[in-house]
Amino acid sequence: MIDKQRMTDHVLDLIKIDSPSRKEKEVAIRLKTDMEQLGGESFFDDAGEKVNGNTGNLIVRINGNKRNARPFFLSAHMDTVGPGEGIKPSVDNGLIKSDGTTILGSDDKSGLAVIVEVIRTLKEKNIPHGDIEIAFTICEEIGLLGAKHIDISKFSSKHGIVLDSSTPSRLVLRCPSAERLEFKIYGLEAHAGLCPENGINAIQIASEAISKMRLGRIDHETTANIGNIQGGTATNIIPNLVRIIGEVRSHNEDKLISQKEHMRNCVRSTVSNYEIVIEDVKHKASYEEHSERSYDKMDLSEESEITHMVNRAVNNLGHGIKSHTSGGGL
Ligand SMILES: [Zn+2]
Repeated sequence: MIDKQRMTDHVLDLIKIDSPSRKEKEVAIRLKTDMEQLGGESFFDDAGEKVNGNTGNLIVRINGNKRNARPFFLSAHMDTVGPGEGIKPSVDNGLIKSDGTTILGSDDKSGLAVIVEVIRTLKEKNIPHGDIEIAFTICEEIGLLGAKHIDISKFSSKHGIVLDSSTPSRLVLRCPSAERLEFKIYGLEAHAGLCPENGINAIQIASEAISKMRLGRIDHETTANIGNIQGGTATNIIPNLVRIIGEVRSHNEDKLISQKEHMRNCVRSTVSNYEIVIEDVKHKASYEEHSERSYDKMDLSEESEITHMVNRAVNNLGHGIKSHTSGGGL
């Protein structure tokens, strides 16, 4: 039913258009043209302004031609990770590859191409369908920012599919909640050669605190990471500030909170051990912390209506699909 060659050509075109996060405009314009040629009504929302990108999410509506059919939602993200500029894709034995110097960008250009080909096929074969609402989103790779700023009230669908998984034979039903954690650890600056006894080394405190943390896979539904650390100025200066940024993800809210508390405790207890006295004045290390919810979990049952809809469609087409729990954010 799907025109494989047409879809291959389209995905190659999309891959060749650079679209790192916050710079999705060119690919968005191409998709807008594609969808308008298919009779879609489209507009850009204001998410781009909110996240400092060069375009907003592209929202498209395809009017249905079947009365009483319920609207359905489709989505894929337009941005790619790096190194993703100047991608040179080629088709080798039915497999699309990059030249090895960049990513390919199949995540999520393949999702975009699938959506466009589905609409083309519906139109071309005059297949009855209800209204289709589409969100081509921005900045997924840097924290789902496009999806976060989308105005849900603009959509009427109660069901939909996001095409952003590693294989079409995988149906993701569960994604974790995530929190972002940031700690600023303050020591005391001093010359490292002349008077090291007058300093408190913030890098040393940070290292000790991190070394106490349980990180990585905590259990089958919880993970934790420290992903960024910044601090210090020169080898001869005892650093007075280190910034640590990390995250916790879990499918279980209680576990997420308890892992977060554990990481906070590691910092609190370590910092409290560092103090010095200079000329009868006590100097203590200190810290500030900040945490925020990055996104909430998805937890769909095998018995949910959308799961049944997908399974029916897959069976009709003679394929197989397995439900999956992902560690990725939705
Ligand atoms: Zn993706």
